[in-house]
Amino acid sequence: MSRHVVVTGANRGIGRAIATAFVEAGYTVSSIYRGGELPDGVHGAVADVTDTDAVNAAFDALEAAHGRVGVLVANAGVTRDGLLMRMSDEDFEQVLDVNLTGTFRCVRRAVQSMIREKYGRVVLIGSVVGLLGNAGQVNYSASKSALVGMARSITHELGSRGITANVIAPGFITTAMTEELSADVVSQYEANIPAKRFGSPEEVAAVVTFLASDQAGYISGAVIPVDGGLGMGH
Ligand code: NDP
Repeated sequence: MSRHVVVTGANRGIGRAIATAFVEAGYTVSSIYRGGELPDGVHGAVADVTDTDAVNAAFDALEAAHGRVGVLVANAGVTRDGLLMRMSDEDFEQVLDVNLTGTFRCVRRAVQSMIREKYGRVVLIGSVVGLLGNAGQVNYSASKSALVGMARSITHELGSRGITANVIAPGFITTAMTEELSADVVSQYEANIPAKRFGSPEEVAAVVTFLASDQAGYISGAVIPVDGGLGMGH
């Protein structure tokens, strides 16, 4: 069984916390990232997830150095918020290209190795916004809800080969992505979260490492919230 984990975008935010948690749990950890500093103990290959050739080359290099990938955490994601009627094609397509097609590019390459190993864990980082929707995030919510269909299709295609595919749907987590919000908006959001607070990247990472474990081998096609109750019922 391969214990080589690839986390996309481990240079900051939730991806960084996920990669750190895997290092602490004793896995071999790599990241496909665009730049910046990776946490201690994380190997890197530079690629933009919107570039198919670069993604494939990054997997080739990481696997040549550290062995076949057994766990993929597709974490890289962006927002380009704006109201529907004013949203440009470019802002819509860019978010889909990173969050959805970028995830597809990584999963397509990673499962080649998982199929050979007859073992794999695919963890897609979705969002509560993919389930609830959010004003100003037509592009982002569409990209994240599509990951649910992707994980479930992977489960149908590859579930008999020891491969699981799940979506984690974080609520509001304190990272650069949410630090852009004004104090007023943060208090408004907090008022609607049953836990009355934002989550931490480490709280997301703990669920990712569980889904990657042997113990989680019978969980597939699931959407697992880490949202303080914000999205319950969806
Ligand atoms: P950050 O903005 O802090 O980090 C985003 C990461 O994605 C960075 O490492 C960034 O790299 C990387 N990335 C973006 N575009 C690309 C690309 N084209 N190719 C490769 N890497 C790329 O966000 P978070 O840590 O908050 O978010 C991580 C994931 O969690 C995202 O998928 C996000 O949608 C999801 N999420 C976040 C929530 C939150 O409240 N924070 C809530 C729900 C979901 P670079 O540094 O080069 O830009």
